[in-house]
Amino acid sequence: MDNKFPGKDITDSDLKDKFPLSSSLNKKKIVKIDNNISFGGDVVPIISGPNGIENKDLIFKCCEVLEKNNLKLLRGQIYKPLTFPYRSKKYYEVGDEGLKILEEVKKNFDVLIVSEVMETEKLELMKDIVDVFQIGARNMQNFPLISKTAKLNKPIILKRHFGCSIRDLLGSSEYALIEKNEKVILCERGISAPHTHKSTSRFMLDIQAIPAIKEYSCLPIISDPSHACFWHEWVEPLTLASLAAGAEGLMIEFHPDPREAAVDPLQAVNFDEFTNLVKKLRLIGSSLNKKIF
Ligand code: PEP
Ligand code: MN
Repeated sequence: MDNKFPGKDITDSDLKDKFPLSSSLNKKKIVKIDNNISFGGDVVPIISGPNGIENKDLIFKCCEVLEKNNLKLLRGQIYKPLTFPYRSKKYYEVGDEGLKILEEVKKNFDVLIVSEVMETEKLELMKDIVDVFQIGARNMQNFPLISKTAKLNKPIILKRHFGCSIRDLLGSSEYALIEKNEKVILCERGISAPHTHKSTSRFMLDIQAIPAIKEYSCLPIISDPSHACFWHEWVEPLTLASLAAGAEGLMIEFHPDPREAAVDPLQAVNFDEFTNLVKKLRLIGSSLNKKIF
C-alpha cells in the first residue's frame, strides 16, 4: 500500500476507502442535541452524573446539581458492563426498572439522558427515554449493536476501546454512518499501557488521541477522564487538559458520597469538587472561545 506519510498508521487510502464517511476528507460534522447543545462547534457540552443511577433519590440529587451548574446532559446509566460478574450487597443494578426512574427524572428536570446500551434487545425499551445512546468501550467492535442503535437515528457516543487504535475506532464509527445516522460522537476514555497494569492507574488518558482524531475524522471527539484515570484526584487536571487539547465535549462522573458509590467509588468527584471544576472549565473555555454547556 502506498503510504504517503511513512510512520503514520492511517494512510490516504484508509481515509478514502476504509472510512470514507468518518474521514477528515468530509466536512466537519456538528452533532446537534438541542438549540443550545451541540458537539463539534463552539460549544463544549458536559455529560455528567454518577456511574450508575442507583436509585431515584440519588439521581434526583444529581439532577439538582446539573441544574445549579446550568448543565443539561445527564449520565443516566442503567445497564453496566462490569469487569467481574460478582456483586456486593451494596451494588444494585437498576436495569429495566431504571427506565421508570429515568421517566420520572424527565418529568421533574430539564435534562437530556445519555445512557449505555449493551444489548440490541434493550433498544426498543430505551428508545423513547434515552436522548443519546452510549456504546461503551467494551462494545466498540460489537458491529450489530452499532448498526441497530444507529438505525434509531439518535445521537451515539462511541467510546474507544482501551486496546484499539484510532483506525479501529473510525472503522466502528463507519458502521453507524453507513446507516445514514450522522450523529456520531467519538469518545477517548483511556488506553492500556504498561504502567497501567497496576491497580493505581487503571488506564491512561490518551490526550494526543484528541488532536489525532480531529486530524483523521470529521466527527466530534470528547474525553472521559473519570474512566481513564479511575482516581478522583486526577479528574480535574485531566479534564482541564482535555479541554486545552481540543476536546469537543467532556464526560465527568460525580456522586453525592463518592466513596459510597455502588460502582467505581474511587473515580467520582463530589458535588463541590464538580461545581468548582465546571467553574474552571468555563474560565478556560472563555479564553478559548468555547461555551461550556
Ligand atoms: C461508562 O461510561 O459507564 C463506562 C463503562 O465506560 P467505558 O465503556 O469507557 O468503560
Ligand atoms: Mn465505569
